[in-house]
Parts: sequence; C-alpha cells; structure tokens
Amino acid sequence: MILNARYPQLNPKLYHQQAPMPLQGAKAGHFNGALADSLQWSEAEKDNWVALCSGQQTVEGFEPLAMVYAGHQFGQWAGQLGDGRGLLIAQVKSKTGATIDLHLKGAGKTPYSRMGDGRAVLRSVIREYLAGHALNGLGIASSNAVGFTSSTQTVQRERAEFGAMLLRTADSHIRLGHFEWINQYAPEQLTDFTQKCIEWHFPECLNAEQPVLAFAQQVISRTAIMIADWQLVGFAHGVMNTDNLNITGSTLDFGPFGFMERFRPNWINNHSDAQGRYSFQNQPSIGHWNLWIWLNNLIPLAKAEGKEQFKQDLAAALEQYEPTFLTHYQQGLNQKMGLPQDHAESFDCAMQFLRILQSEQLDYTQSFLRLQQQQYQQLRDDCLDTHQFDQFLTQYELIRAHQDTNALQQIMQQHNPRYILRNHMAQRAIEAAEQDDFSEVDRLFQLLATPFSQHPLERAEDLAPLASDQAEVAVSCSS
Ligand code: AMP
Ligand code: MG
Repeated sequence: MILNARYPQLNPKLYHQQAPMPLQGAKAGHFNGALADSLQWSEAEKDNWVALCSGQQTVEGFEPLAMVYAGHQFGQWAGQLGDGRGLLIAQVKSKTGATIDLHLKGAGKTPYSRMGDGRAVLRSVIREYLAGHALNGLGIASSNAVGFTSSTQTVQRERAEFGAMLLRTADSHIRLGHFEWINQYAPEQLTDFTQKCIEWHFPECLNAEQPVLAFAQQVISRTAIMIADWQLVGFAHGVMNTDNLNITGSTLDFGPFGFMERFRPNWINNHSDAQGRYSFQNQPSIGHWNLWIWLNNLIPLAKAEGKEQFKQDLAAALEQYEPTFLTHYQQGLNQKMGLPQDHAESFDCAMQFLRILQSEQLDYTQSFLRLQQQQYQQLRDDCLDTHQFDQFLTQYELIRAHQDTNALQQIMQQHNPRYILRNHMAQRAIEAAEQDDFSEVDRLFQLLATPFSQHPLERAEDLAPLASDQAEVAVSCSS
C-alpha cells in the first residue's frame, strides 16, 4: 500500500485515534482481490488480508481514527454522531492516482458509539459487501469493500448474531453531517475544513472565481446524478440521513437498502421507516432537502459584506439540482428503453412503460431485460390489461421505426442489468455464511461483478422476484 495519510492533517477535534478491537475467532469471509490490486496492495498484504480486516493488525504509518460528525436523522437534528463502530485505518493511493479510504466497520466502541456496542453483524456486513460491489458493477458511484471477516463472537440484535468486520473503501468518508458538526461544535474549523475538502476532493474548484460556490455546485450536481442513477436501477438507500451522504456524491452507509423488484414507486424497503420518508420515490426530493440543510452550513464562509449575495448564489446553485437530476434520469431512461434522446415522445413512452410495470406489478429489472431482448409477447402475457400494453408497444415501435435499432439495442444492453442484488439472494448467501459456507457469497460476487452479461453460475431465482404469495425478507435499521 502506498499511504497518503491526509485526514490526520485536520484539527484533532475532528477525530479520535484508537486501535480496533478484534473479535473472538475471526475468520475469512470473502476477499476482493481485484480491488486490492487496484489499491496497489503487495502480495504480502493480500496474503495478510484477514488480519487487517479483523482488526488484529493495523497499517504501519497510519494510526486508526474515528471521525466525528453530526446529522439530521429522519428530518430531525440529531446532534453529535460519528464513527460509532468504524475506524479509518488507512488512506492509500490507487493505481489511478486517487486517494482511497480504508475504513474498518465493526471495529469496536469509540467515543461516538452512544448506546451502540461498536459492532456490526455478519448479515449486514454481507449485505453491504455485496451491495457496494453490485453498485460498482453497475457503474454507480459507491463505496466498495476489499473484504469481510466473520467471527465466533455473538452480537445481540433482535436475535444473537455473529460479529463481523467489513473493510470498506471509499473516495471519502466526509459526510454532509461533518459540516453540521463543525458549525455546531467547532465553527472556527469551518474555513480550514472546507478548504481541505476542496483540495482533496474537488481540486478543479480551486481555480474558480468563488471556490466554495464551485464546490457547492459540484456536490449538488454529483448528488443529483448519484440519485438519478439509483432511480434508474431501482436502488433504495433506505436511510438518507445527512450523516449518510458523502460529499463526493458516492453511495455510502448501506443499512436497510434494497433493489426494487416489483415496480412500486412508493416502496419502503426499510421496515423501520414507518412514515416512508425514505421511500423509493422520495429519494430525489430528500436529496434536495439534505443539500439545503448542508448549504446552510456554508453561509458563514461568506465575506461579511457579501453575505446576502452568497446566500443567493447558493440558492441558485441548489436550483440546478432538479434539472441536473431530470436530465440525467431522462437520458438514462431513454438508454434503458432503447429510445432516441432527441425524439419528443421518448420520455412520454418510457413513462407509459413504467405505468404498466406499476399497474401490473411487474419486476422492474426483468421487464427491462425482456424489452431489451424484444420478448414483447412474454411481456404482454404478464399483463392483465393487454390493451394498455398494445398501446404502449405501438407507440414504442413507431418511435423506433426510423432509427438505427442496432445502435439502440447496444445501448440497451449496456444499461439493463441482468443481475441486481435481490433481498432473497442476499438472504440465502447470509444463511449459508452463518453456517460458515461462503460459496453463495462468492457466487453472487461473481454474478454482480459483470451484471450486464449472463454468467454460467446463474440460477433461475437470480432473475425473478419471490412469488407474490411468499413473504418478503424484512429489512430494518438493525445492523
Ligand atoms: P446509521 O444510521 O447506521 O448510519 O448510524 C447512525 C450512527 O449510529 C452512526 O454514527 C453510527 O456510527 C452509529 N451506530 C450505528 N450502529 C452502531 C453500533 N452498533 N455501535 C455503535 N455505534 C453505532
Ligand atoms: Mg451512518
């Protein structure tokens, strides 16, 4: 590993240095060798991954640290939060020259643990491991993980579960909530902290006339694009609190997430979210709300005489959120549909398709795959209202009639995954792993590495939702 230890350059108020606390009976879960290679791990480091990923060893030259931050949780100010069970154990240079954080989740209590036990359970670690891998495979900005370990130590949740640790990678662990903590508890740090965020993560903004404004515009735009990408694959984050959003617009903190199966815009994946604040269709507007909260924390950075103007500039920047989201979403949907970007009726036709999926309760991923494979009869057979489907298909074929369909088909193939991480797939892998069998984790890992093409290890269940009379896997905040 080639270290670039930059977070410890910040004022020590912003973190707490401590060693990880290993679990009893630590053992290998799964390792992402390709990711380790991209992070320039040596052969010796790869051979030693279990020790690092179970907190038994640390990276020489980097003292592990827990970050402090704050946040709004479910719309309410939550005060001080922080890494209550995870430690930044290194910052390393990747082959492409980027600096990547290595964060060990489940590494024991920290000063920010509040009522928590500092641990993560095997179930949630596997879910996060596979979900980060899945989003990366889909080309969506997201954290990932080099590996995870299991253990023989039990951790109490609704039931006793096995403790586990995840070695997460991300381009940053700076959350919107970091700014909230600084404004509340250490406002004198705001200028320096913001400057560092820009230098580290948005260096191109340093040349702008107003670097802070340019930084805000970048965060807004990247967040809008990330959420548009989520909507396009049917990903629901589940807990979009401001402490779970990365300033880099990269998906972070998988808890009760889910990939939507039957198309239900008001789907609530997280059983702990009774009000549906973070339902699938609310994600774009919650992103906007979170950014609005965040932007308020930048206002103190205005020069005294220019405060009103700066507020207006930030408000204007936020106004770009919706058009950025919509442009990206519409383009992406046209790509999934195989419809031309420049045709006036393309988006309307795509919406008609989504209405069919909704009213017929069809599987989102499978239906797009059928459309791509031109299995129109099969799609029609799945519909009760065949008239509605026929109307759609007429419009769809009319729009495509004078287009280069080969090119459109190729675009469709690149934008319609065959595999997403369905809850029941993850569940089966978890149940086997709890019996010390990680082969199903490995099989899913392979499928999700290249989700757009058929894999020889595919099983029929990978392509379909559970039958509608089977109970769904309940996913809650417990992790
Ligand atoms: P989350 O909603 O999972 O992002 O967690 C919110 C906050 O609670 C974060 O500051 C976490 O570090 C902390 N937290 C969650 N679970 C635990 C746990 N088991 N032990 C200590 N802190 C936790
Ligand atoms: Mg969190």
